[in-house]
Amino acid sequence: MRIGQGFDVHAFGPGDHVVLGGARIAHTRGIVAHSDGDVAIHALCDAILGALAMGDIGVHFPPTDARWRGADSRVLLRHVVGLMRQNGFTLGNADVTIVCELPKILPHAPAMRANLAADLDCGVDRISIKATTSEKLGFTGRGEGIAALAIALLQRT
Ligand code: MG
Repeated sequence: MRIGQGFDVHAFGPGDHVVLGGARIAHTRGIVAHSDGDVAIHALCDAILGALAMGDIGVHFPPTDARWRGADSRVLLRHVVGLMRQNGFTLGNADVTIVCELPKILPHAPAMRANLAADLDCGVDRISIKATTSEKLGFTGRGEGIAALAIALLQRT
């Protein structure tokens, strides 16, 4: 078995929605990002890459590469899943925690779990989405940005 962890942050900016776990969620702010700014998927990609000891998302999808401008992060995730399979691993389970005051995450957790399970070609029972506020403390507490942490356990096929 291999284990990896990931962490990602993006700032809020002008806009009317955020994308988290591949789910489009209406919000009074948008996300400032080169891609769609899906912190949940970016953290999960880094967790899987970490378990593979294959660097991080910035190595595989450099912000300077126009191919990834405005990219759907699910495309990035599926690329990382391909690397995982090429290296002889399958997902044991993944656990993602999203940190923000708003938007409310839990109503959208079932959609996120379904999206991630589809991209990982695994059962939704292997994908956990959790949420917490930071009690109005720090950049997430002030509503300046959103953060996500992820951990992934990989099993050799
Ligand atoms: Mg990111």
